[in-house]
Amino acid sequence: MDEALRIGIFGGTFDPIHTAHLEVAEAVRRALRLDRMLLVVANEPWQKLGRPVSAAEDRYAMVAAAAEEWPGLEPSRIEIDRGGPSYTIDTVDELHRAHPGSDLTLVVGSDVVADLATWKDEAALREAVTLAVVGRPGVPAVAAPEGWHAVNVPVAPFDVSSTELRRRLEADEPVGGLVPDAVIRCIAQRGLYATRR
Ligand code: ATP
Repeated sequence: MDEALRIGIFGGTFDPIHTAHLEVAEAVRRALRLDRMLLVVANEPWQKLGRPVSAAEDRYAMVAAAAEEWPGLEPSRIEIDRGGPSYTIDTVDELHRAHPGSDLTLVVGSDVVADLATWKDEAALREAVTLAVVGRPGVPAVAAPEGWHAVNVPVAPFDVSSTELRRRLEADEPVGGLVPDAVIRCIAQRGLYATRR
């Protein structure tokens, strides 16, 4: 049997991945001494319906490019390979089946905490993971949500969002320092965010 692992799950749309995502994932990995930290690319991010989202393979390519510069972080295709809408409980169940006895930590920014109650099978998810909550600039600090086994992990605030990056990229404004260089190259190679330019 597989050795019981401490695995972090940091899920996102990552459209595009940015430096705050990477800093957060690495800070939590270190603070909680996790064996692995997965950057889980949402296949169909049902929370983001209502705006166009880049193709999952393009978002995965950007995450994979970023992770090459961050050796502690691993890009994960688990939700893309499963297909359909991306529900965290399905990812958690799949990881538990693949790594029996593992200890799963779900990492979320403080802006996400208020939405957890709307997630599929929230009660089962609450039982299945530890929640690591990280602060997000511009979002008031939140208490650990009721009923979850939650820990707050302090991270250095980094005020960037994918929304702001998409705006800059579409306006042809600089994004240096906000996304890794490898991601900037990937965006250029795939011609992403340029259609409205
Ligand atoms: P968008 O602006 O398109 O909504 P986003 O920047 O919030 O995107 P997501 O891919 O939706 O990025 O976020 C994935 C996870 O990263 C969420 O848990 C979110 O709270 C967290 N996160 C994103 N940006 C930050 C940040 N600057 N500081 C801390 N956490 C962040």
